[in-house]
Amino acid sequence: MKKCLYCKIEVGGDLERCPLCQSKLVGEPGEAYFPKPTGQQRRSKFYKAQLFAVWVVMIAGLSADFLFKVKIPRFENVHWSLLLAMWLFVLEFGIMRQFKPGTGSARKVTSVFFTTLVLFVITSYFFNFWRFTLAWIVPISLIGDIITNFVLAMIDKKGNTMSYLLINLLVAIIPYIILFFVGKETPIPWIACMILSVILFIGAVIFKGHTVLNEIQRRFNV
Ligand SMILES: [Zn+2]
Repeated sequence: MKKCLYCKIEVGGDLERCPLCQSKLVGEPGEAYFPKPTGQQRRSKFYKAQLFAVWVVMIAGLSADFLFKVKIPRFENVHWSLLLAMWLFVLEFGIMRQFKPGTGSARKVTSVFFTTLVLFVITSYFFNFWRFTLAWIVPISLIGDIITNFVLAMIDKKGNTMSYLLINLLVAIIPYIILFFVGKETPIPWIACMILSVILFIGAVIFKGHTVLNEIQRRFNV
């Protein structure tokens, strides 16, 4: 019989983790209670279907752009299909990463956020709205990522969310430092972003520090 050291319960079957607290169970596994899930198979069928769809779209785009010379009005010299291919490649890579087990939610959210943002900046460069992107879209979406990571820091018990909040904080401060030395004013969204990231990081340290202390007390009966 397997046991959870934290909940002080015995768990039948061959579960890896405690159904109550998700801690690793110890002890010898019993006979399996549940049949092996078939989710894996369905997922791989879905995965193949979307992979095929991505290839169809990518090849259709490339041939429309290069062979049939289908262009976007006002941007006749932009090879839009290469940008599309770039998005699809990264999307595909992202989907592969999401299926990898053992990745924390903060890490998933933050990596999806930063990759999407880099692609967006590249795209905006070719379509000539990169100034607007850098001054408004990047800081505003960074605010979204910071808030998400803060919420995750509050609810995620694994405790690996703080480092992502710290990354957010550093990224939020960089433009201010650069623009300070160049002698230019920082756009308002960036200032808002910087202030928010500092506040939420300190907030997370205060709240998170408290729960960490609680956990030590609970587990060691201090
Ligand atoms: Zn437990």
